Amino acid sequence: MELEPGRKYRCAICGQIVTPLADGSCPICGAPFEMLVPVDEDGNDIAE
Ligand SMILES: [Zn+2]
Repeated sequence: MELEPGRKYRCAICGQIVTPLADGSCPICGAPFEMLVPVDEDGNDIAE
């Protein structure tokens, strides 16, 4: 899974819906990209 610019993700650590930083990490808690789950505009998980 690669970071998609503009896509929103739900952080499995802090639970917030976030737009990842440039390095893919959570801007709220700093969790690595591996901990982020892609979601749609309604905040629902997107199945890969
Ligand atoms: Zn987080």
